[in-house]
Amino acid sequence: MSTAEKKGAAKVTVTRKTFDEVIVPTYAPSNFIPVRGAGLEVWDQQGKRYLDLTAGIAVTSLGHANPVLAETLCEQARTLWHVSNNYTNEPVLRLAKALTEATFADRAFFCNSGAEANEAAFKLARKWAHTHYGPSKSRIVSCLNSFHGRTLFTVSVGGQPKYTEGFFPLPQEIDHIPFNDIDAARAAIGDDVCAVVVEPIQGEGGVIPANASYLLALRELCNEKNALLIFDEIQSGLGRTGAFFAYMNYGVTPDILTSAKALGNGFPIGAMLTTKEIASVFSVGVHGTTYGGNPLAASVACKVVETINDPAFLDHVTDAGAKLVSTLQAITDDYPQFFAEVRGRGLMQGLVLAENYRGRSKEFVAAAEAEGLLLLVAGMDVIRFVPALVISDAQIEEGGQLLRKVVKGFLKNVS
Ligand code: PLP
Repeated sequence: MSTAEKKGAAKVTVTRKTFDEVIVPTYAPSNFIPVRGAGLEVWDQQGKRYLDLTAGIAVTSLGHANPVLAETLCEQARTLWHVSNNYTNEPVLRLAKALTEATFADRAFFCNSGAEANEAAFKLARKWAHTHYGPSKSRIVSCLNSFHGRTLFTVSVGGQPKYTEGFFPLPQEIDHIPFNDIDAARAAIGDDVCAVVVEPIQGEGGVIPANASYLLALRELCNEKNALLIFDEIQSGLGRTGAFFAYMNYGVTPDILTSAKALGNGFPIGAMLTTKEIASVFSVGVHGTTYGGNPLAASVACKVVETINDPAFLDHVTDAGAKLVSTLQAITDDYPQFFAEVRGRGLMQGLVLAENYRGRSKEFVAAAEAEGLLLLVAGMDVIRFVPALVISDAQIEEGGQLLRKVVKGFLKNVS
């Protein structure tokens, strides 16, 4: 190794303490640093192994360090990394073809994250409404407790006031209504509404599936009032619920759909899908991004889409989801003083803490981590399970056993 290499930044010794010294404190990461992953397992700096049921928050659906994706990425990296949107590229065209063939959409816009996909969707909805009906059709209706990202527009549309605190003034003409409440939707969706946005399953808000009748009512109200229906499938999409996108199970088709997270299995990419007619108002120069649809991200996403959009793969997700639910339900039945309910779809499940343990989801996740089990919260009262879709029966079993151990320890030590 050359002296220059030895002195390189990559060789500086870093620990969790380094985070507090050099990173803007918007996160409070765990005390261990994962250094290696394979499938659903990760190892930290000390070599401790963890079973990961978080998939990097519903991202690494095909597992950590997936060898096929690694090869796809390396092959593309040896060929062409980036050319800007002054030129198109083969991987992005193949990706757009695959996504439009697999969904209701005829057009795709690519970006780098979920928030950017939603930002594009909200801008497109306003542009479409202004173009066809004039500037007074600007209002966006969204659900309380929803999460749509962290840009100023997306926190404003999101239904969690804690994320807009301190950022006023906010974008205007955004209304929030209770989720799954058809009467509230009917009252809120007037002629001045350009778009209604909803997560088919609220993720960050507590893993709460929409009722089919609710999504259908939103579709009908949007049709009546000439508003666009936007489904945020950034967490629920790409096989997570057992359908390629969750809307396919509900039988309700949106006008715009946003995707990200699992699309790149951890390589940053977001997508906004829509129809040819709606897309036409986003004419040349109206919206854009330097990296969106770059060959590296697009080549990985192509392989992800090809792998997930396969009936056998989706059947596996449905089976694994049923197995996860029965495992979590058995634990809930054994500890009714601790857990109140299992809810979700496919491999997107929430375990709701019972009355006496409300507000303690973070403590529980920390206790699980100590036992070598990585879990997520969804708010203060819900433990969230969004494991890689390639999870095996043995891994679900191991997760269940570890979970029981954590509950026993929690009941003994913390209550
Ligand atoms: N929408 C939903 C439903 C999400 O779950 C998230 C992220 O958790 C986002 C949007 C934002 O995505 P990103 O963090 O990639 O900007």
